[in-house]
Amino acid sequence: MDFALTEEQSAIFDTARDVGRDRIEPHARAWDADGEIPKELWPDLARLGFAGLYVAEDDGGSGLSRLDATLVFEALSMACPSVAAFLSVHNMACWMISNWGTQPLKDRVLTPAVSGEIYVAYCLTEPGSGSDAAALKTRADRTNEGWKLTGTKAFISGGGYAGAYVVMCRTGEDGPKGVSAVVLESGAPGLDFGGLEEKMGWRSQPTRQVLMDGAKAPADAILGEEGHGFSYAMKGLDGGRLNIAACSLGAAQAALDITLGYMGEREAFGKTIDRFQGLQFRLADMEIALQSARTFLRQAAWKLDTGAPDATKYCAMAKKLATETGSKIVNDCLQLHGGYGYLADYGIEKLVRDLRVHEILEGTNEIMRVIVARHMLASR
Ligand SMILES: Cc1cc2nc3c(=O)[nH]c(=O)nc-3n(C[C@H](O)[C@H](O)[C@H](O)COP(=O)(O)OP(=O)(O)OC[C@H]3O[C@@H](n4cnc5c(N)ncnc54)[C@H](O)[C@@H]3O)c2cc1C
Repeated sequence: MDFALTEEQSAIFDTARDVGRDRIEPHARAWDADGEIPKELWPDLARLGFAGLYVAEDDGGSGLSRLDATLVFEALSMACPSVAAFLSVHNMACWMISNWGTQPLKDRVLTPAVSGEIYVAYCLTEPGSGSDAAALKTRADRTNEGWKLTGTKAFISGGGYAGAYVVMCRTGEDGPKGVSAVVLESGAPGLDFGGLEEKMGWRSQPTRQVLMDGAKAPADAILGEEGHGFSYAMKGLDGGRLNIAACSLGAAQAALDITLGYMGEREAFGKTIDRFQGLQFRLADMEIALQSARTFLRQAAWKLDTGAPDATKYCAMAKKLATETGSKIVNDCLQLHGGYGYLADYGIEKLVRDLRVHEILEGTNEIMRVIVARHMLASR
């Protein structure tokens, strides 16, 4: 067993850390205020292979492992977790198209997606079904030309911004086996969007409802086999959960680094606050929590990379552990900044706002525990 990153993996992390520091960090607060990440960012990240991290090389992707991808998301998140997590959703959707898309669909959507020309959104949640995703109601009916989709998707990251939408929709019976995945392209007749959602964090990402009223997609826009879309969506989420977990840890590391520096400068009762042993213990607790969550996350990524039978359980466990660890650390870092932590200038309050949603999406942390318990009970 070797816990060290390879030279190549260290280089991947450093490349992502550098581009994050130069290209994202200086603008993160402004994008948070503006409510939109400029589309010009994506080709810059795509040139480094970040727009198709684990898309097959034959499809123009980087063909990296899931563990490698977590390094990219952790490093980018040190600059801005909202941007990093937005890129994670795009990577998850692109991987689904690479794995199960038809060649004409790949030519139209995946090629521009991995080169950063378009963003691809992932559309599973509906106003009436989030955790119980298999209860989704959006219908896709076959027509002479292809598919016609009708329904509403809620909370879609990149809604109204993306160039394509991977939509999980009902083509058959109730439940997961009646779900297919169809890709809608922006500009499709019958495709529209709700207003911009006002959010606590992830404010640089546009979130909107995706409204489909007989929205048209060609026959080649279905991924894989009809009725298999729910399983494709869940497979996508295994990797997505690792990425979100990595985003929480990168932001927590950034907050801890800022806090260490701050505590060496801020004085109270005649000494810098890093001299108080009570606060030193809090630093130590944060370091222990962060390092253990990181090690566990990398083990879960290794399980997914090696096709371990319990990979889904480990991805769920890592997502719950890392997102809760990350949220606790950034919140504790805010506390160690005193009143200044609450001000936008120090960057910590944004991290607290951004990380909160990681406990809710890609499956809530309650659902992560449902998955873990289900595996435990099944293996008795
Ligand atoms: C900013 C943001 C961006 C998002 N982006 C996307 C996106 O791009 N694509 C997409 O498809 N979705 C997206 N989502 C949706 C997200 O995945 C859902 O919000 C999430 O899955 C929870 O669903 P819900 O909001 O309907 O909550 P509900 O399912 O209604 O859950 C409400 C509460 O009940 C709990 N609960 C539900 N069922 C159980 C159970 N069986 N046992 C125990 N507790 C349970 C939940 O954990 C939660 O605490 C996004 C959400 C947000 C906030």
